[in-house]
This record gives sequence, C-alpha cells and structure tokens, in this order.
Amino acid sequence: MKYGILGDIHANLSALRSVLEHFRARRVERILSVGDVVGYGAAPTECIEILRAAGARVVKGNHDAACVHELDLAYFNTYARAAVSWTRGQLSRADCTWLAQLPLTLDLEDCSVAHGTYHRPERFDYVQGESDAEASLDRIPTPVCFVGHSHVPIALVRLEDDPLRTARAEGTDIDLSDVHRALINVGSVGQPRDDDPRAACAIYDVEEQRVTIERVRYDIETEARRIRAAGLPPVLADRLFHGV
Ligand code: ZN
Repeated sequence: MKYGILGDIHANLSALRSVLEHFRARRVERILSVGDVVGYGAAPTECIEILRAAGARVVKGNHDAACVHELDLAYFNTYARAAVSWTRGQLSRADCTWLAQLPLTLDLEDCSVAHGTYHRPERFDYVQGESDAEASLDRIPTPVCFVGHSHVPIALVRLEDDPLRTARAEGTDIDLSDVHRALINVGSVGQPRDDDPRAACAIYDVEEQRVTIERVRYDIETEARRIRAAGLPPVLADRLFHGV
C-alpha cells in the first residue's frame, strides 16, 4: 500500500492540483490529509470538492474548525482572522457540513493522522521538536502518525532498540524498518514556512517501510493573483513566493 499524505492546503488550488498530480505519477493508492483544508487561500470550496472527489481521509485542522464556528478567533492573528471571516462567506452549507464532520484523529491499519498533537488534538498544539512529540508517541496505536499545523516538515522517531528515547530523523527519506514509533510532520501544501516555496507532501510506502518528504513546484503566480483578486490581505499572496 502506498499512501500520499498532504495537509495545510489552506485553499491553495494550484498547489493542491500539483501535489495530486505528483501522487498520481508516484502511483499513490490512498490519500490522507492532516487538515487545514481552508483558511488563508482563495479557493476553499474547490479544494474541499477535490479532496472529496479523491476519496481522501481528512482530519480537522484549527482553521477548518474556526470556519465552522467551532473555535474562538481570539487564537488567530489578524491575517488568519481576516481569512477565516472571508472563508465563512464562501462556504456552501454542504462545505460546512463536511468540515464539521471531520474527525480530530484517524487510526488506520498502517498509520494514524492528526493535525497538531495526537494525544490532545482538540488543543491544536504544535509539534516542532522532540519534547512536543513525547506524549503523542506514547499513545499512537500504529507505527507512524502524520501531523501538520506548523507548516514545517520534521520527523521524530523512537527506535526499536531504544524505544524510550525520541530523536529527530535527519533528511527527507525516513527508513521505518528499525523504528518503533514515528511522528512525522508532512509540511504544508498551500503555505510552506520553511523558506522553500514549493508545496510539501509525503509518500508512505508500507511494504518498503519508508516515508519520503517530497516537494512539488506549482504555479505560485496564479494562486497569488487569485488571493489578491479575492480581496484577502496581500501579505497572504506575497508570502507564497518566499515560503514563509
Ligand atoms: Zn495550517
């Protein structure tokens, strides 16, 4: 089984299309999403439609929750708040129903999925280092849990021969064959923040016991134009060119 994992799409239609094309070329069989389908970008309805049509299994992100009034906007910065308000005006009733029914975590046969942490998903905490991952790694019932939220790819692992110590796996090719548990942030499709403007995603090959973090070029100019034309804060368009 080959999974394609993507998240933090943030209503970036060009980036989503390019990543799905990449998944097709890499013969991905199932698509999973770590959430934040909407917010920041200008194509929320289109991105929801595409994920539904692709049969993706999706968890709920904090922006998804905010757009259906499940989360207080006090937690959001000015630009994020403006984007949530704009997005609420765009979503159809069916879009809202779909966003509201998304689960906070998923446990599948080969892996688990959450937006922030696995152990307290409703708090939308960030996983950016070893200590942030400990409680989730203690709880996940599968070998690997995919998360998002920080928009920065990172892999935190516990090895079979040292299952109490959490370490950072270097590089973008993560060998799971000697790993007891792994928590992997797959980065962001629609708003990368690691100084690389290309869309980020991951491919999990279960038979090969391997996860690769991959980057995909997309038409940033078109997407930036869409954001400006929608009247969203221009900074949300400008940052896409720099991956910040
Ligand atoms: Zn996000």
